[in-house]
Amino acid sequence: MTKKQRSPAKSPRTQAIHGKFESGSWEFSHHLIPPMTASTSFRLGSLERGAQGFSTFGVSTEAPIWIYDRLEEPNTKMLEDQIATMERGPVAVAFGSGMGAIASTLLTLLKADDQIVAHKTLYGCTYSLLTNWLPRLQINHKLLDVQDAKELTEKLADPATRVLYFESVSNPILEVADIEKIIKAVQKENKKRTAERRIYTVVDNTFATPWALRPIEWGVDFVIQSLTKNISGFGTEMGGAVVAPIEFETSLRIARKDFGAIMHPYSAWHILVYGITTQAIRFEQQQESALKVAKFLESHAKVEQVTYPGLRSHPQHKLAKKYLKSPEGKFAPGTMISFQLKGDMKKCRKFVDDVAKNSYSITLAVSLGLTKTLIEVPGFMTHSAIPDNKRSESGIDPRAIRLSIGLENAEDIIQDLQAALNRL
Ligand code: PLP
Repeated sequence: MTKKQRSPAKSPRTQAIHGKFESGSWEFSHHLIPPMTASTSFRLGSLERGAQGFSTFGVSTEAPIWIYDRLEEPNTKMLEDQIATMERGPVAVAFGSGMGAIASTLLTLLKADDQIVAHKTLYGCTYSLLTNWLPRLQINHKLLDVQDAKELTEKLADPATRVLYFESVSNPILEVADIEKIIKAVQKENKKRTAERRIYTVVDNTFATPWALRPIEWGVDFVIQSLTKNISGFGTEMGGAVVAPIEFETSLRIARKDFGAIMHPYSAWHILVYGITTQAIRFEQQQESALKVAKFLESHAKVEQVTYPGLRSHPQHKLAKKYLKSPEGKFAPGTMISFQLKGDMKKCRKFVDDVAKNSYSITLAVSLGLTKTLIEVPGFMTHSAIPDNKRSESGIDPRAIRLSIGLENAEDIIQDLQAALNRL
């Protein structure tokens, strides 16, 4: 190991470029960029080594014994080390998608007759997992407003509650969770419980990204990332990760092995080499543009409401200032905007169709955090798993339009929005 690799990084920005990039069982210390693995299976040399590999599976060691890609492989492991560093957590386990990470984490923590308490506004597929799939395993759910202290305390006090789940910045309506207050309520309840029955907190940090918020610093137990989004950043890879307490590493790795939600080493390599190393600079550029776009929309006569944590008009602007900060201490309100036009659903459809047809810099597409600016209508697209009669309980206005700001010139994005608004 070189002196440079041994010395502590000067800042998270530098760590993202250099990282650990090492493996005790694979010699590539002379590579500037780690190589990509392309072998589903690994030669073991002796039965003893094979048996040792299986018996030590699931625990990070200095010299891991690679066996089979579905168990563990070097590129994913290097990516996991970097994600744990970025999220300031003990250990990360990567999955083939964000949903793979969420499902495997919840199935690791919950069993029949347990209850998960979750915030009412959730990503559509997370909502579907809680309401369609977990009930088949007799795992119940209660949705509530996590900011409502009375309701939260009440639901936490139910002995069946074992997990509290929420998004640090909610998709799609960009509420900022008061994590410190929520964690205090959980800690208070946990004091009354035995260690075996304690409640775990699981927070999806995808919208914020670790460049804007590190929930583990606020006492959260498990942090989820859909790596498909800003961390991958270019719209070419799928991936997910959970950052977890060390005592859960083995069970999460076993869950990944047995459910099979593994990440392809090719994707792990791309996210490690291109995504992580450029996340800070992409995020900050996109965020700068997001503020300009949000201000433009807010000042437009045809726009009814704009939600962006960086605007003073955001209902939780103060909370945003408290929680959304880069590791270098700068306010980091993010790259996502939600807005509604004046008028009905017909107006909304007309506008979005116009953007899809005529805009150069904005694309009608799901996903977020990518180099390209994307527009979508969550109520009918990403959150369509939420039934029409439940949408308002989830706090989602069907006319709400979600924008994920990319790396284009902000003026070009604004011009495209302006042109579509002119034609309304
Ligand atoms: N969490 C949030 C907040 C998301 O927006 C998404 C996807 O849009 C996911 C989780 C799921 O991630 P993936 O698409 O990588 O499975």
